[in-house]
This record gives sequence, C-alpha cells and structure tokens, in this order.
Amino acid sequence: MPANPKKLRLDSPPMMALALVALPALVYYLWICVHHFGGALAWPFSRDLAALLPAPTLAAAAIYGLWLLFQGFLQLYAPGPWKEGVPMDADGTRLRFRLNGWFSFWFTWVFLLGAMLAGVVSPTIVYDHFGALLTTANLFAFVFCAYLYTTGRRSAKAHRSGSRVGDYFLGTLKQPRPFGSEFDFKFFCEGRPGLIGWTVVDFSLAAKQFQLHGTLSTPMLLVLAFQFLYVVDYFYHEEAILTTWDMVEERFGWMLCWGCLVWVPFTYSLQAYYLVNHAHELPFWGTAFIVALNLFGYYVFRSSNLQKHRFRTDPTRPIWGRAPEFIRTQRGTLLLTSGFWGIGRHVNYFGDLMMALAWCLPCLFAHPLPYFYVVYFTILLIQRERRDHRKCLDKYGSDWVKYCRQVRWRIVPFVY
Ligand code: NDP
Repeated sequence: MPANPKKLRLDSPPMMALALVALPALVYYLWICVHHFGGALAWPFSRDLAALLPAPTLAAAAIYGLWLLFQGFLQLYAPGPWKEGVPMDADGTRLRFRLNGWFSFWFTWVFLLGAMLAGVVSPTIVYDHFGALLTTANLFAFVFCAYLYTTGRRSAKAHRSGSRVGDYFLGTLKQPRPFGSEFDFKFFCEGRPGLIGWTVVDFSLAAKQFQLHGTLSTPMLLVLAFQFLYVVDYFYHEEAILTTWDMVEERFGWMLCWGCLVWVPFTYSLQAYYLVNHAHELPFWGTAFIVALNLFGYYVFRSSNLQKHRFRTDPTRPIWGRAPEFIRTQRGTLLLTSGFWGIGRHVNYFGDLMMALAWCLPCLFAHPLPYFYVVYFTILLIQRERRDHRKCLDKYGSDWVKYCRQVRWRIVPFVY
C-alpha cells in the first residue's frame, strides 16, 4: 500500500530533524528534574530551565576522552575470540568481530575498583561531573556522527536517501570501520562505552547516596544489582548481538550512535539518580515481590531468546522436554511455534518489560519521573514489534500470516 503523503511519518526528514533537537532536550529535562527538583516534574517551557543547562568542562572532557580511549584500547587488544557476523546484503561477505566484551567488562571493573581503593579515582566522580559529562557526551556524539556522515558518503557502499538530515540521522553505512581496519564503530558503541558506562554511572550514584546518607538503601541496591545483571548478561551472550536487528538491519547514524553513547548511560540510570536523595526503605514483602518480578522477567527474557537462538542453530534440540514444533516457510527458514514462541510472537519483549518495571518500582510512587524508563521502553518495544511484523510479513508472506494465526498474541500472552 503506498504511504499516505499527508501523514507525517516518524522516519520523514522533518521528524528526524525534530528528534535531533527534542531527544537531547528530553535528556536534559530529565536530568534537571531529578537533579534540581528532587524528581518533581518542572514546567518544561520555563525560561529558568535554560539557565540550568550544564556547560562542558575540561575535567569532564578529560574523563570522557580517557573513558573512550580506555574502552577502545580494550576493544582492540583485550583477549577474546573472533566471530563472523551474518552475510552482508550487498555481496554476502561476512565481517569479523572480536568478542572480548566479557573480558573488557570485568577488566574495567577491576581496574576502576583498584583505582578507587588507591584513591586515584573518586567513587562519586560521575555524579560530581554528571551535568558536564552529559554535555560532553552530547557534543562528542554530534561531532562523531558528522564524521560518520562525511566519511560514509564518500564510500561506494553508502546508502543515500536524498535527504542530508535522513542520512545524518539514520546513517549511510551499516558497518563503518576506519581506514579499512577491523575496528567496528557500531559494534563498539552498541556495547562498550555506553553499557559498561551505565554500570559505572549507577555505581557512582550509589556511592553518592552513601556519602550523603551514610547508607545504601535497599531500593538502591536492587536497582544496582538488577541493572548490573542485565549488562553482565549482555556481555556473557555477546555473540547474540551479531544477529540482532540493530547489527544486521540498521545503518550506523545519529539515532543508534547517540542512543548508545548518550541515551543509554544518562537516562537508563535515572532511577539510581532519583534514589540518591530518596533513601527510603521497602517492606520485606515489597522487596520480595520486586526481586521475584525481576527474576521471572529475566527468566522469560533470557530463555525465550535462547530458545530461538538454539532452535536456529539446531532445530532438533528439545524445548521443554519435547521435540520443537515449527512452520517450514517457502524460503526454507523455520519458524518456531512451541516453547515461548508458541505462546506469543515476542514474549522476549514481555520479559524485558517485566524487568523494566522491577527497576522502577523500588522508587515507589512519590513522583512519576522514575517510571520514565518503563513507559519509554513499552512504547519502543510496541513500535519495534510492529516494525518486525512488517519485515517478516514482507519476507515470509503467507507463511507469516499462518504463523500469526497460530500464535495470536504479539507481546503479552492473553492480553496483547
Ligand atoms: P527478536 O530477537 O525477537 O528477533 C526477531 C526476529 O526473529 C524476526 O525478525 C525473525 O527474523 C525471527 N523470528 C521471529 N519469530 C520467529 C520464530 N517464531 N521462530 C524463529 N525465528 C523467528 O528481536 P529483537 O532483536 O528486537 O530483540 C532481541 C532482544 O533484545 C529482546 O529480548 C528485546 O527485548 C531486547 N531489546 C532490548 C533493548 C534495550 O534497549 N534494552 C532494545 C531492543 C531490544 P528472521 O528474519 O531471521 O526470520
């Protein structure tokens, strides 16, 4: 069906131009609310808020620069196996990726803890420079994306949409690598500076709570432990990223790059930031419920992703003690219809959403701000499911329709 020209699509140049301004503004707004207003929602159009925008500092530039160099160095030289990604659609070649995220993650933590114990790095360093770091990371992401845009457009493989904004926003190349090297910018940014950085931000916020209140509250410990587990899980299963939508389908432009370098570390840590100055405690039953919700969400998320991954590598491997059931598509691909993939088409998203809620609940209900993450993530995953549905419909045609008839629920079984 042709696109309705009157309808402003989310991926149209005017909407992308708006996102380039609105998304960074939203991150600043969230930070101002949590830092200056104790988590209360400030009137977003007040001129007074502009005065609270943090300027970059030399110290923040040095911290951020050293962080990027350190992670880049680990990506290049830390031990880890080389694995091939999926074939590129242009010519079927497979690029190699060095899977040393597990080592890099733990090495970073040992190094940082050592530096803190030796008194070289303050545990509250990220909190103390948060505003300036946020501005530094934003500036870096915008400039780095300009570099990706200009170098990408010179490449023979560049995708050109006809819109400069579109090419800057969505990128021109799927797998930009500098000077023909094997350092993959997208693979690096997806995991290292942002995700490892997120755990460091959380840790620093917890250290600030301890410094201010002389205690680490149960909610802070829960948020820290849950998010740490999420990132550890990512690096333990690092190979799985090579087949994700982001790695296979998306080009590397502002949307992904800024998302990984700014959005993830500076907004996913919002609950921990909120808890710095809200050192309340939880009743035992509340703690037990939140832990159970996170563990159950994690079980659903991890097991469903593993079921599909293992089925794709060995379609005879039993699922829940029985031979897997599937639809054989006309393209030859098998669509799993048993286990979690027989209950819903994206139960993995449901698991992720349960965890997201468990990360917000420790903040209790005085302010809506700490629930930003679960609301945003629900919108993101509903959008993503729809995009994936359209992709699979195009790819598998009537086989996908048959699959959808057999597996009715999109994300939440018996609800949606
Ligand atoms: P999925 O892992 O769900 O993969 C979807 C793809 O799997 C489809 O395009 C299709 O690809 C294949 N597929 C679909 N149904 C079946 C089936 N029944 N049997 C076999 N193959 C099937 O999607 P994502 O990459 O979006 O998500 C991966 C994980 O990452 C999720 O758990 C999600 O929650 C998480 N995530 C986390 C984010 C965060 O910010 N924390 C952001 C986005 C995702 P094919 O063409 O190969 O058939």
